[in-house]
Amino acid sequence: MLPEKTFEGRTGIITGGATGIGFAVAREVARLGGRVIIASRKEEKLGPAVEQIRSETGRADAAHYHVLDVRDAAAVEAMAAKVDGDFGRIDFLMNNAAGNFIVAAEELSVNGWNTVINIVLNGTFYCTSAVGKRMIEKKTGGVMLNVIANYAWTGGAGVIHSASAKAGVLALTRTLAVEWARHKIRVNAIAPGPVDTPGAAERLFPDPMIMEGIRKTIPLRRFANLEEIAQAASYLLSDYSSYMTGENFVIDGGQWLSGSDYFTRLKQMMPK
Ligand code: NAP
Repeated sequence: MLPEKTFEGRTGIITGGATGIGFAVAREVARLGGRVIIASRKEEKLGPAVEQIRSETGRADAAHYHVLDVRDAAAVEAMAAKVDGDFGRIDFLMNNAAGNFIVAAEELSVNGWNTVINIVLNGTFYCTSAVGKRMIEKKTGGVMLNVIANYAWTGGAGVIHSASAKAGVLALTRTLAVEWARHKIRVNAIAPGPVDTPGAAERLFPDPMIMEGIRKTIPLRRFANLEEIAQAASYLLSDYSSYMTGENFVIDGGQWLSGSDYFTRLKQMMPK
């Protein structure tokens, strides 16, 4: 757990920060003294999320919101300009907003493909570009954290749109880590394994049997909890990770390595 005041004097944007993982990270960063601007489409979720953070921290300035569709490049640019104008700087950006659903590749429509690519890959680029150029112009440096998933490098049968978009975000992360190091901007990714958020549960594991099946693919035999992801993300957003850039921080209970679990498979093959 990071020390109190780790984020004191820091201001940053978390897309999709009103729910699930984004909200958990926003709460943690605010608890540690930071000011978070959460940005997503539904004001009815943003308002209560901001109120909760303000009341938990006792600081009216701990959280603010901005209604935003990350697919709209002009709206993203306007948000970055507003946050920069209102607070004088942007210290960090967490690209967390995403859309996803399970579909066989041959049944995925062009519209479905474009929707996910536009949110995850294009939205990440729009936000990164709008915030990054301000960090560069002001010479403040900064930190970016992109939320991906372990199928960014394994591929993800059933989620071709999301896997392709997250793979693109991983490439973007590594590219900018090198390109923007000279501007003192660190760019990392975090790859959570399954986390039981309402958004993910509805779209990706809507049934207890599916959840149980997924649980069995995780060597630690459980889903991550939000605190585990929030603490890892806070570390990556903080100065405690000041020498890390271009890294992909995997926090998935060993799930992506489970294909190498010959031991369990051998036991299953043994005659009873
Ligand atoms: P979630 O609560 O549904 O979060 C997704 C957020 O993105 C929502 O707050 C949503 O808010 C926002 N969003 C969606 N479309 C948007 C758009 N066009 N513009 C702006 N915001 C948009 O789900 P989550 O589980 O916390 O997921 C958060 C991140 O973790 C995602 O990047 C996801 O891919 C990643 N992840 C999750 C898991 C998991 O098991 N939960 C595993 C690996 C990776 P609005 O609908 O109000 O816009």
